[in-house]
Amino acid sequence: MAEENEKHFAVAVVGAGAAGLAAALASAQAGIRTALVGRHAPVADGRTVALLDGSVRFLDALGAWPVIAPQASPLCELQIVDDTGSLFRPPPARFRAAEIGLDAFGWNVESARLVETLRARARAQENLTLVESDAAGAEPAERFSRLGLVDGGHVLAELIVGADGARSPLRAASGVRVRDWAYPQAAITTILAHERPHRDVSTEFHTRSGPFTLVPMAGGHRSSLVWVTGEGAARRLADLDDAALSDAVERQARAMLGAMRIDGPRGLVPMRGLAVGRPVAPRLALIGEAAHVFPPIGAQGLNLGLRDAAALRDALVRAARDGRDPGGRGTLDAYASGRRLDAAARTAAVDLLNRSLLADLLPVDALRGLGLLAMAQIGPLRRIVMREGVLPRLGAPELMRARR
Ligand SMILES: Cc1cc2nc3c(=O)[nH]c(=O)nc-3n(C[C@H](O)[C@H](O)[C@H](O)COP(=O)(O)OP(=O)(O)OC[C@H]3O[C@@H](n4cnc5c(N)ncnc54)[C@H](O)[C@@H]3O)c2cc1C
Repeated sequence: MAEENEKHFAVAVVGAGAAGLAAALASAQAGIRTALVGRHAPVADGRTVALLDGSVRFLDALGAWPVIAPQASPLCELQIVDDTGSLFRPPPARFRAAEIGLDAFGWNVESARLVETLRARARAQENLTLVESDAAGAEPAERFSRLGLVDGGHVLAELIVGADGARSPLRAASGVRVRDWAYPQAAITTILAHERPHRDVSTEFHTRSGPFTLVPMAGGHRSSLVWVTGEGAARRLADLDDAALSDAVERQARAMLGAMRIDGPRGLVPMRGLAVGRPVAPRLALIGEAAHVFPPIGAQGLNLGLRDAAALRDALVRAARDGRDPGGRGTLDAYASGRRLDAAARTAAVDLLNRSLLADLLPVDALRGLGLLAMAQIGPLRRIVMREGVLPRLGAPELMRARR
């Protein structure tokens, strides 16, 4: 009996990536008996994530931000350059965080550092049990779900949280309705050292084959690259040696940061999209890329995943306060309805922008160009767009509104 109790949790989060770790920490910190199921494999993809203000507040509330902050690079200015060669090409648009009273729109951090810091917090967190084995599948029952483990064991939990990434085995087995699609693109990712300082400016070149983005990193002379381009071109770039690839990046960046040198591991990521009808099934809530996938445009993916984690924590806290079942219909409905608009709006906006670049149609170019021009020229519109992108306070989860 004692052993069964040890395996019984209110919440079992599956997947020790950034979204799963944040969800498990937030749930355990709220006093909810939580398990985090998944192996702690090393993260070595050389990628960075730009975290917006709400995400940073959340990480701060989880106690992780003070450890990450010294190596984070502020994003004080965003620059968008239309490099499509279209007739309707607007001049570069600049967005300054100071204009909406912020020091920075967000901070760029190495993914590995973020995940390692959250893992260290998780190891020290009261109410949180780490089960370092992969999940083999969940069987929902009336009062709880039985989560099988690949090592042969199992865990019982009233709610299973699927944070098991874009290919989510839990989602696949749950019957949740999924729409997925592929883009004829892939992203080259790496880190570059450069001659001129980036001055905390992130630059996005919108090219006919996708956005080419340089995001500042700590120290002033390093930036991370996400170069979304056609699948064939991406493969050819991936085959170049370091010197040839850094030359190609320097050319595409119009040498704005001077001479460049590859200074980190490289990645090649196919571009795809995925949306779910509702991110819930009996005794299951999906968060992060298990619930939504889209191309890396405008630093939205993990920020959305962290909002899922923080919103789920709020739904669980309300359920506990009202004495409701954490995996029951009411809790799941509250979570699902709160997340619908945010996920759908970000997926649609990223999809629309990406497709408008690929379309090569004059009317589409004209609309995109006018939109960018309006934002560059009309101060109040620009400030509304910036605030909505960075500080969606209305309806924001509690820990994303917390003061830092
Ligand atoms: C090139 C690129 C750049 C990006 N830049 C940004 C950015 O600047 N800002 C931003 O917000 N987002 C960005 N994103 C998106 C962001 O990287 C993702 O949204 C985020 O990493 C997803 O985190 P996750 O925890 O949901 O999934 P993952 O990181 O995939 O974690 C899922 C975890 O589940 C585990 N798992 C899988 N199956 C099981 C199982 N059966 N049992 C237990 N564990 C399991 C996996 O091992 C993994 O640890 C970028 C994405 C790309 C591709």
